[in-house]
Amino acid sequence: MRPRAQEKILISLNAPHSIGRQDLHINGSIGISVYPADGEDPETLIKNADTAMYHAKECGRNNFQFFKAIMNAKAVERQSLESSLRRAFEREEFLLHYQPRINLETGEITGVEALIRWQRPDRGLVPPSQFVAIAEDCGLILPIGRWVLGEACRQALDWQSAGPLRLPIAVNVSAWEFRQPGFVDGVRTVLLDTGLEARYLELELTERVLMEHAESTTSVLQELKRMGVRLAVDDFGTGYSSLSYLVQFPIDILKIDQSFIQKITTNSDNSAIVSAIIGMGKNLGLKVVAEGLETREQSAYLLTQGCPEGQGYLFCPPLAAVEFASLLRVGTREKIANR
Ligand code: C2E
Ligand code: MG
Ligand code: MG
Repeated sequence: MRPRAQEKILISLNAPHSIGRQDLHINGSIGISVYPADGEDPETLIKNADTAMYHAKECGRNNFQFFKAIMNAKAVERQSLESSLRRAFEREEFLLHYQPRINLETGEITGVEALIRWQRPDRGLVPPSQFVAIAEDCGLILPIGRWVLGEACRQALDWQSAGPLRLPIAVNVSAWEFRQPGFVDGVRTVLLDTGLEARYLELELTERVLMEHAESTTSVLQELKRMGVRLAVDDFGTGYSSLSYLVQFPIDILKIDQSFIQKITTNSDNSAIVSAIIGMGKNLGLKVVAEGLETREQSAYLLTQGCPEGQGYLFCPPLAAVEFASLLRVGTREKIANR
C-alpha cells in the first residue's frame, strides 16, 4: 500500500536533518479535520485539527489522528487540568516524597529517591502518573523540574548536616528537561546555589529517553559526568536498549524495572531476564538496583543472583520529608531490616 500524505510527512520528518555539524532528530504529531464533517469554517477546522493533534501526542507522538467529537470533551478536561497545574505551581502545591534505597544484604539505606506529588486542594495527593505527562506537554515540566531538583538537593543537604549518613539523592528527569539546551547549566546552578556536592546527586533517566537520540545523549551525559553527577538508567529492561550505546554512555546505575521484579519468583522467563541484567550490569561495572520489591521471596532471590540493592514497599513506601527524617533518626539499619 502506498503511504498516504500524513504518513509521508511523518517519514520525512523522521529522517535526520543536518544543520551545520548538528544532526537534528525530530518527529511530528499530526491532527486532521475534514471539511465539512468536522467544521464548515476555517476556524472550526483548525481548532478541531489542533484537538486531534493533542490526541496524537497523547497516543505517544509521532503519529496522526483524525478528529472525533469525543476528543472535544477530553480536550476541555485537559485544558482545565493544564490551568489547574499552572495555578498549582504558582501556589506551591507540589511536594516531594522520599523512598529509601536499601542494601539487600545489610538492610542499610544507601540512597533516597525524590518523587513528586501534587497536594491538590480538596482532592488529596495526586500521583505523578496523573500530571507529569500533561506538564510535559504544556512545557510546565521545565519550571517544575527545576523546582524538584532544587528542593531535592536542598533536602539532601539538610539531612546530611543533621546526621552521620551522607546519602545520595536521586531525581527523575523527563525527556523534555533533558533535551533542553540549558539543562546541564541548570543542574550546575542548582548545585552551586544549594551547596550539595555533585557526587551526591543522581539523575535518573529512563532507558527510552537515553536511546531516543543516542548520539546527542552521550555528549550531555559526559558533561554531567565531568561535573561529578551520577547517572542512573530508570525502568531498565522496558526500552529496547542498544547494548553498544549502553556501553558508551557514562552510566553508574541500572534500575531494573519493577514489572520484571514483581514476577521473578513466579515466571521463569522473567527471572532469566533479571539474572541476565544483573550479570550484564556487573560486567559493565554498574551498580544494579531492583525497583518495586514487595516480598521477601523477591528480595531473597535477588540476593542469590548478586543484586546488591533494592527499593520497594517491602522496605518502605515513599515518605513525606518529616517522616523520612524520623526514619533516619530512628536508626536505619534496625528499622529497615526488621520491617
Ligand atoms: P520511577 O522513577 O520508576 O519511580 C518508582 C515508582 O514506583 C514510584 O511511583 C514509587 O512510588 C513506586 N514504587 C516504589 N516501590 C514500589 C513497590 O514496591 N511496588 C509498586 N507497585 N510501586 C512501587 P510514583 O511516585 O507514582 O512515580 C511514578 C513515576 O513518575 C516515577 O517512576 C517517575 O518516572 C515519575 N516521576 C516521579 N517523580 C518525578 C519528578 O519529580 N519528575 C519527573 N519528571 N518524573 C517523576
Ligand atoms: Mg526513578
Ligand atoms: Mg522506575
